[in-house]
Amino acid sequence: MQSGSGLAFASDFDGTITEKDVAAMLLHEFADEKWLEVEEDFLNRKISCRETLKREFELLRGGRQQLLEYVDEHARVDPNFKSFLSLCEKRGIPVRIVSEGLDFYIEHLLAKHEIGIEFFTNQAHFENGGIRISFPNSSDECDDCGTCKLELLKDWKEEGRSIVYAGDGLSDICPAESADVVFAKGDLLSHFKKEELDHIEFKDFRDIISEMERW
Ligand SMILES: [Mg+2]
Repeated sequence: MQSGSGLAFASDFDGTITEKDVAAMLLHEFADEKWLEVEEDFLNRKISCRETLKREFELLRGGRQQLLEYVDEHARVDPNFKSFLSLCEKRGIPVRIVSEGLDFYIEHLLAKHEIGIEFFTNQAHFENGGIRISFPNSSDECDDCGTCKLELLKDWKEEGRSIVYAGDGLSDICPAESADVVFAKGDLLSHFKKEELDHIEFKDFRDIISEMERW
């Protein structure tokens, strides 16, 4: 294992840095229940993740303020995440968030917890009582995801860094498979187990800190 500046750490947001998936939380509370049909199509691989996000969030009703109030009440950021960031800072390991969620609640939660790291995600535009999603971090070569997490590792790879990745979902499979060390839970863990790929199972960032302290 390389130490210090040879490493770079990319993390998913929803369900990884937060306890639960905030996007799913908002859809459950504020979307027309048709979103469950869209989700079904996604899980049966009939439509891409990018298309799913677009269609699901078009069904979300509520203003920015109202949604953020709900987020404040129900979303929980892993209390160990800041200690994890301190450890990375001490070791000169850059950290970024790569997310298939939405900018408005990620920005809000990071500011609330005074977490100042870079994040890449999809953009929510509040228009006509609904939400339109745009994809500033999508890939030109693949239309599966809204945010291409794999491309967001490219600059680090070109610098010759070893990538450490943490995630819990289907959109994490692609970047995690290209990473050097993978912390996995949820659907990502199931995939890595099924495919018999090297990984470290984790519950929260306390587990990640314990592992990294041994490097
Ligand atoms: Mg996730």
